[in-house]
Amino acid sequence: MPELPEVETMRRIVERELTGRRLSSIDLRLPKLLRGSPLPTLDSLLGRTVTGARRRAKVLVIDWSDGLSLLAHFKLAGQLAVVWPDGRRAVAGHPIPDPGGPYPHKATHLLLGFDDGSTLYHSDLRQFGWLRLMETAAVGAALAAFGFGPEGVGPGAITAEHLGNRLARRRIPVKQALLDQGVVAGLGNIYVDEALHRAGIHPARPANGVVGGELLRLHEAIGWALERGIEQGGATIVHQRAYPRDGFPAVHGRQGEPCMVCGGPIVKTRVGGRGTYFCPGCQPVP
Ligand SMILES: [Zn+2]
Repeated sequence: MPELPEVETMRRIVERELTGRRLSSIDLRLPKLLRGSPLPTLDSLLGRTVTGARRRAKVLVIDWSDGLSLLAHFKLAGQLAVVWPDGRRAVAGHPIPDPGGPYPHKATHLLLGFDDGSTLYHSDLRQFGWLRLMETAAVGAALAAFGFGPEGVGPGAITAEHLGNRLARRRIPVKQALLDQGVVAGLGNIYVDEALHRAGIHPARPANGVVGGELLRLHEAIGWALERGIEQGGATIVHQRAYPRDGFPAVHGRQGEPCMVCGGPIVKTRVGGRGTYFCPGCQPVP
């Protein structure tokens, strides 16, 4: 968290609310956020205008006038908030800081002020995320260096055949294989649990054993889970507890609660070192 749907929600907020806005102030309170950045400070962004926002896997790319781009990875706990002087706001990502509370929060590390009085607050409770400022011409190579697989949803999304080829080479648990960003880019812990539940596949089953009709169900379920997440602006998980809206998330963060399909209790286990939620009724051990 944030995973693909949360980062896509951030992208939409930046594109909708900040495109055409000129940057008038920068307050970077945690310089290490810029580690590994080709340009070592953000100063050259002053006076530039946001021209758009893109996303590849869980990396957000904010494009600026005159050929600069800011890449952001939010890792475990990143959050973006745009707040206007009248208090109106748009928030996506980790649920801390409280989206309805005061900004900046003690976990807010970057404040960008714009010419319409709006402020972009970048917060990161865990400080694992990063920012990299570079020339727009360098973005393609920078993204390619991550070795991301195809996206799970949208234009160029992974096909069932491609997914099958990638799983067939792996004997590790299917959950672990799906978390590999080289298999499906942007999928993370929440949405893998949701996709496996919808497809009726136990998370610890070997990846190369998911074939035929099960593979087709899993492929459909990955796209479904990501689209559901994007539709509702990301999932709300606080202290490992989900707050489902319209039945989503159905398993992740719902240990001991009834399965929305069969009514049995949701179980939490560990697969590949990650906390994993599933329904033993819907996802039997073969
Ligand atoms: Zn169930």
